[in-house]
Amino acid sequence: MSTANTEAIQSKQIELVSRPEGMPQKSNFELRTAEVGPIQDGEILVKNQWMSVDPYMRGRMKDSDSYVPPFQIDQPLEGGCIGEVVQSRNSDFNEGDMVLGNLGWREYWTSKGDGITKIDPTIAPPQAFLGALGMTGMTAWVGLHKIARLKEGSTVFVSAASGAVGSIVCQLAKAMNCRVIGSAGKKEKIQWLQDKTGIDAVIHYKEVDNLSQELAKHAPDGIDVYFDNVGSEHLEAAIDNLNDFGCCVECGMIATYNATEAPSAPRNLFKVIAKRLRIEGFIVRDHLDSKDEFVRDMAKLIQQDKVVWEETVTEGIANAPDAFIGLFEGDNLGKQLVRLS
Ligand code: NDP
Repeated sequence: MSTANTEAIQSKQIELVSRPEGMPQKSNFELRTAEVGPIQDGEILVKNQWMSVDPYMRGRMKDSDSYVPPFQIDQPLEGGCIGEVVQSRNSDFNEGDMVLGNLGWREYWTSKGDGITKIDPTIAPPQAFLGALGMTGMTAWVGLHKIARLKEGSTVFVSAASGAVGSIVCQLAKAMNCRVIGSAGKKEKIQWLQDKTGIDAVIHYKEVDNLSQELAKHAPDGIDVYFDNVGSEHLEAAIDNLNDFGCCVECGMIATYNATEAPSAPRNLFKVIAKRLRIEGFIVRDHLDSKDEFVRDMAKLIQQDKVVWEETVTEGIANAPDAFIGLFEGDNLGKQLVRLS
């Protein structure tokens, strides 16, 4: 607790000013200034240091019902963020506490503390709680352990393998002695996967004529699990190569997020019946009761050097829309972050 300032603060924020059609454009966003505070009894004022941009935010830019409500026009966007408590009139928080919240895309925010988690920056750098130790790491862990129910020694195919979720999936599967084949869309990503994650094969999917045949070359005995971050042609190739009773973990379908018409693939869904496949989608926040187990598991693997991660950092709130758009152009290696202060 502290005596808080009685003045409001000028805070820059990114607002959605129009809904993207197809690929998001910079003109869909605007940098504006809002007054934040002064805080009331029971509140804290947080200054954001880091914010996350995530592919799922594209879905919230559409005016349609989904598992999260749409963003509103002329309102600031939201998303995972890490900040420092700079003023407190709440006995649960002290100035200097580092917290994880969901009011990214802005410099300052106030809260009564509901849904805010204190983080311990002595465990890992604060921004890791938006990545490997946060939502994206937990997505990888839930997808493999709770949805695929991964068995030691399985063969696993991972799309967007060098991204925030995919890179952790690859390493968690390697830690279970699986054979892992990843796909990625840039030479430096292929190199990183080969050098740092120890996976068994990497496909540069933009440079192959037939993804299904390429996958078959690397998995002559078929695959047991496909961890899908991409959908479309990747999903079709995986279904072609899955063994009987195999599993597709439907985590994301980024190849379709900006689509203006129905995707042309997968065209082979009958094989789901012929091979008795299980295709199961999941949303990470439905599994928050497993958070402690995830953190214990992940902390151990990090200590054992079995999990490493990469960050792509964009500087300044004004550039947050570029960081977001870059996700769909494959600009990021590992977790895409924006540093705000
Ligand atoms: P990433 O860090 O993987 O970044 C996105 C990557 O996707 C890009 O770098 C690019 O890599 C690849 N990509 C972009 N467009 C295409 C395309 N048209 N075709 C193929 N690949 C493409 O993002 P995240 O790790 O944050 O998210 C990965 C997936 O997981 C997303 O689909 C996301 O929606 C989903 N997700 C789901 C959650 C859940 O609860 N179900 C929670 C969190 C994420 P490349 O250069 O290799 O093409």
